[in-house]
Amino acid sequence: MSKFDFKEMPDKDGYFGEYGGQQIPPELIKIMNDIDDAYQEIRNTKKFQDELDYFNKYYVGRPSPIYFAQRLTDKCGGADIYLKREDLNHTGAHKINHCIGEALLAKHMGKTKILAETGAGQHGVALATACALVDIECEIHMGQVDIEKEHPNVTRMKILGAKLVPVTRGTATLKDAVDSAFEEYLKDPVNFFYAIGSVVGPHPFPMMVRDFQSIVGREAKEQFNEICGKNPDYIMACVGGGSNAMGLFTAFLDDEDVNIVGVEPAGKGLDTMDHAATLTKGSPGVIHGKKCYLLQDDNGEPLPVYSIASGLDYPGVGPQHSYLKDLERVEYVSATDQECLEAFMTLSQIEGIIPALESAHAVAHAMKLAKTLGKGKNILVNLSGRGDKDIDFVAEKLKL
Ligand SMILES: *Cc1c(COP(=O)(O)O)cnc(C)c1O
Repeated sequence: MSKFDFKEMPDKDGYFGEYGGQQIPPELIKIMNDIDDAYQEIRNTKKFQDELDYFNKYYVGRPSPIYFAQRLTDKCGGADIYLKREDLNHTGAHKINHCIGEALLAKHMGKTKILAETGAGQHGVALATACALVDIECEIHMGQVDIEKEHPNVTRMKILGAKLVPVTRGTATLKDAVDSAFEEYLKDPVNFFYAIGSVVGPHPFPMMVRDFQSIVGREAKEQFNEICGKNPDYIMACVGGGSNAMGLFTAFLDDEDVNIVGVEPAGKGLDTMDHAATLTKGSPGVIHGKKCYLLQDDNGEPLPVYSIASGLDYPGVGPQHSYLKDLERVEYVSATDQECLEAFMTLSQIEGIIPALESAHAVAHAMKLAKTLGKGKNILVNLSGRGDKDIDFVAEKLKL
């Protein structure tokens, strides 16, 4: 028997060890349990599986390929580096995988409206896309500051038919957008569905989002074994909330021959305040309905966090990652802004693949690790998204 057995995770109350659960007001517990019941009811039905399979294949464009990055490998001079190309999905990232699942579930439950917040607009665009696809109303709350910064995504959401609610309170950024969207949700949680954008939030969301994303690892395992005749020696992914990472990791958790690495954003350095390396520098706490590692002050309030990649700057992290860290099943490391930018430019210029700044953190660590491993070893990196959204920012930053 394998040393690891993760198949029964989480427990029925949504705990991964001590992490997760439902740290929410009592009146919301029933609502979350109804969502869990509906999910358990449909997840194994043929109709739901067929619908999801159909959209994955003909709409998202799955399976996404695994690509051997020969030139990157040659440049690093060590282990072979392979990329799981989630950047090739419709809408350009892995987020569409769970947004379609959540939209189908909301529709099945007869919900009238899907609500969410968005920071840089990536979750908003993926969700607006899924809502257009399954025909359900979509309302996205976004800070005014972010609206001004992320114009193309704002326009995309509007064209896709979503209602965009600008949030001007507080610092008019992500945290305020969360508060605003949540207030709207509380007006009618029976008929509204709050679509959480990563493996975070109260149970059942960390489990559900993981399950919808786990297609990434199932495909990757089969594809990699077809190409190399064995499992990868290392798999790695960037970790913000942790959905693309859980997507890749889940299929490999029980495989003792696979080393698993999560890469957090070290921002301007782990010894500064400007990072979002939650698992590396945080401690257990409670945020957004779950217990997890948290970057927090002495009163348990979340600290301000920072990353060059806006999809990674979150002070909490998925409860399952918190558990996997304590078990030492997954190793969590970090990459700085500087290393991320170097990886972004390198992959663009020697492979012709412009990665999302988020994904470039995982590429940066793979480049470092490849050098230290001998030839004959291999690394599979989850390339969670494409970098079209980041090109103007990078060009300005590097004065191109
Ligand atoms: C949102 C996003 C992330 C971070 O989210 P996770 O839940 O940690 O995966 C990573 N990569 C891309 C391309 C994203 O859009």
